[in-house]
Amino acid sequence: MSVQPPHYFPAPRRAKFCSQCGTPISRRVPDGDNRERDICDHCGAIHYQNPRVVVGTVPVWENRILLCRRAIEPRYDTWTLPAGFMELGETTAQGAARETLEESGARVELGELFTVIDVPQVDQVHIYYLARALGPELDPGPESLDARYYDESEIPWDDLSFRTVVTTLRHYLEDRRRGVYQAHRYSLEHH
Ligand SMILES: [Zn+2]
Repeated sequence: MSVQPPHYFPAPRRAKFCSQCGTPISRRVPDGDNRERDICDHCGAIHYQNPRVVVGTVPVWENRILLCRRAIEPRYDTWTLPAGFMELGETTAQGAARETLEESGARVELGELFTVIDVPQVDQVHIYYLARALGPELDPGPESLDARYYDESEIPWDDLSFRTVVTTLRHYLEDRRRGVYQAHRYSLEHH
């Protein structure tokens, strides 16, 4: 018999118990390593933690840019480019197209890699691809309250979800003005 919890949430990165044997985890530097790890002193498993990859797109239809209004925390009810955590077994490009379809219903033809943004304070890397929508149809999924295409002049700059979205949009609009799209790699180290 299973008991339903009051609500589900993503587990914290640091586990309390070894996933191999259930023993409480210790945190220290293993022999031959140079940083603290979550270690099981019972079975010997080392529980490595590494950054996570967020993948998304800058979908464009007739010069307008697709934004989705978030129906989930964090940043509920703010506007974002379609993006989400890369899943196991997929490529960054597949993940970006999947997230775009899931969050907006937009079918896109993926373009070039556009931004690669290190966000070390949350242990993430965000990767955005350029994308051309294959039609104007949208069908926002359960993670979005709404989805629509914005003219440059209508972009809700004060209501965007994340700095990675703000900076990716700024780069996109700058490159569009210049008529040359290039990949941008940078870090957002401070809030
Ligand atoms: Zn163990």
